[in-house]
Amino acid sequence: MDHFNLKDGVLHAEDVPLPLIADGAQTPAYVYSTATIERHVRVFREALAGLDTPWICFAVKANPNKGVLATLAAQGLGADVVSGGELLRALAAGIPAEKIVFSGVGKTADEMALALRKGIGQFNLESVEEAETLSTVAAAIGMTAPVAFRINPNIDAGTHSKISTGRADDKFGVAYDHALAAYARAAELVGLRVQGVAVHIGSQLTSLAPSRAAFERVGALIADLRAAGHTITTADLGGGLGVPYNPAVPVPPSPADYGAMVQEVTQGWNVRLIFEPGRVIVGNAGVLIARVIRVKEGVNYPFVVLDAGMNDLMRPSLYDAWHEIRAVRPTGERFVANIVGPICETGDTFARAREMDEVKEGDLVAFMTAGAYGATMANTYNSRGLIPEIMVSGHDWALVRDRQPIEALIAADRLPPWLDRGAE
Ligand SMILES: *Cc1c(COP(=O)(O)O)cnc(C)c1O
Repeated sequence: MDHFNLKDGVLHAEDVPLPLIADGAQTPAYVYSTATIERHVRVFREALAGLDTPWICFAVKANPNKGVLATLAAQGLGADVVSGGELLRALAAGIPAEKIVFSGVGKTADEMALALRKGIGQFNLESVEEAETLSTVAAAIGMTAPVAFRINPNIDAGTHSKISTGRADDKFGVAYDHALAAYARAAELVGLRVQGVAVHIGSQLTSLAPSRAAFERVGALIADLRAAGHTITTADLGGGLGVPYNPAVPVPPSPADYGAMVQEVTQGWNVRLIFEPGRVIVGNAGVLIARVIRVKEGVNYPFVVLDAGMNDLMRPSLYDAWHEIRAVRPTGERFVANIVGPICETGDTFARAREMDEVKEGDLVAFMTAGAYGATMANTYNSRGLIPEIMVSGHDWALVRDRQPIEALIAADRLPPWLDRGAE
């Protein structure tokens, strides 16, 4: 459920008509609904209500906007970060350091030192090599790092290959069969305090079975680790729960179904559970609004050329992702069209032969469910500045990120001295 609905024939974000935002902020632009974000936090939390004080650590990479993170901080969420930059963003938005976990295969020594000094809650280590580096970094500054190993359970999550993370040949985690040896090594490292186990098998998961299988492996490992003398007090079950994008395909499991499965599988683990949801919190809390530049005649279908491109919303070109595209002022007429951006790549195609609201030059459209992995993946390809982000709350709306002017892009470049004759 979201708060983007037609009122008097016009698509609104909560109580704000989207054309009002398009007039004020221009297009393309991302628009987020506070009420939808808050609702998803509530639904996810209620799904976990039977568990003993779980931590919900929002996966910052899904949407790192400060307004979004501050909204989540106010709801008591922690954060899952994958870089020093995300760590600083989470802290700047008011998320307490002790509720931050640090994931990722390539943490640098500098990022480790930063996270240690900030006092984060847990490092999710992805290799023995990383454990050794973290121990050295921690010992050098007289600290002890709280750690878990991320286990690669060798389970195919059944999602798009580019967002599957738990197969043996994926780059993530320590192979399940190497886990006991990894923990034995970590226990010898003076800069580490081993406290947990972590797993994350992929994103946009549409079935609970792979997660259940992965969590069962985590449960077995916790027992083996305790038998080997390790103290295990946390289990991080990652994120990945899918959201509905395409009404024509079955809806992913609900947070309530997910929570019930977790409750059952983790019975008797006697740990603090950590969750890292991203998409399920913010996915359908955001839309991308764009304007039709022109409708170009095609051989089979017309091409609707939008002012938004693949640089603004990469998911269709990167993952063949499906986004519902709606007219902001639907007339009731429908047509079949190819929906494309202005970028010079055939990959800049959002939908082919799509049946949708009929639109014409100058009309506004909204890409639904664009709140996760939308703005955060945008880039400036074709010298297009990053587009603005807007938050809505009830009747209010506010710019939470400015449009990046082309002047800022040009000014960031430097001429090498041998070309910079003008400066002599
Ligand atoms: C991306 C990621 C998540 C969040 O995934 P969603 O599908 O957005 O829930 C959680 N944990 C880790 C380690 C990740 O890399």
